[in-house]
Amino acid sequence: MRTMMVVKIGGADGNDADNVLVDLARRKDYVLVHGGSKEVDRLAEALGRPPRFLTSPSGVVSRYTDEETMEVFTMALAGKMNTQLVARLQALGARAIGLSGADGGLLLGRRKAAVRAVDGGRVLLVKDDRSGTLEDVNDDLVRLLLSNGYVPVISPPGVTPDGELINVDADRVASKVAVALHADALLLFTNVPGLLREPADPASLIPEIPREQLPFFMNFAYGRMKKKLIAAKEALEGGVPQVVIASSQVPDPVERALSGLGTVIR
Ligand code: ADP
Repeated sequence: MRTMMVVKIGGADGNDADNVLVDLARRKDYVLVHGGSKEVDRLAEALGRPPRFLTSPSGVVSRYTDEETMEVFTMALAGKMNTQLVARLQALGARAIGLSGADGGLLLGRRKAAVRAVDGGRVLLVKDDRSGTLEDVNDDLVRLLLSNGYVPVISPPGVTPDGELINVDADRVASKVAVALHADALLLFTNVPGLLREPADPASLIPEIPREQLPFFMNFAYGRMKKKLIAAKEALEGGVPQVVIASSQVPDPVERALSGLGTVIR
């Protein structure tokens, strides 16, 4: 297959998805994956189900997704955000097509039996969380669309073989899709210029990480940035030659990231 990239846009506040869409609209060599953490939070608040989070013993933060939260998660991501992004790409001239992980069994996984979470110094086992592990990507479906001129816009949730929806992290979805497609690059756009030595200081950008030094640089990442580095690690291990973590807040973010602006991991 021709040169391909997987582009992921973040959903936290401060992201400027439109910069990425405008830049992507002139291309056909990509698959777009999106998250939408803030949109899920907003809808959850509006429905009177304030968001809750779990912190794993290694410090990775994830949404506590019980059955009711999964409803909100699906409405916000696969419903509203995915449809809006597709509509905008269409308006920009792209033949965009929106897919959740359930469509065509696109993001197939299994639900975690229990999730370990730290609470007040103790480790608890949380059993009603619908977090899942992504196991398989229906890359045939993605190729079918791409080879017919459509650009897929992919959103969590994932799905189990039994039809249960699972919360899969969008950064890791993007990484898994990139591996499945043998993509040449994975671009993770976010609300910061890349991995920072000092998270509060945008000038402390780490421009390049050789893959073997990723475990060391993991020490700089807190909270959700850890997931991006885990996603980057999985992509490199799966044969994707380069991952760029870059800002969505600048014009032409895709061009810039491809030219090496951001944190390049290879
Ligand atoms: P998105 O929704 O854009 O993917 P996330 O909230 O998932 O964004 O991840 C980006 C956030 O990670 C940043 O806004 C920042 O608060 C946090 N972060 C933690 N550690 C770092 C770090 N070392 N460098 C940059 N950002 C970091």
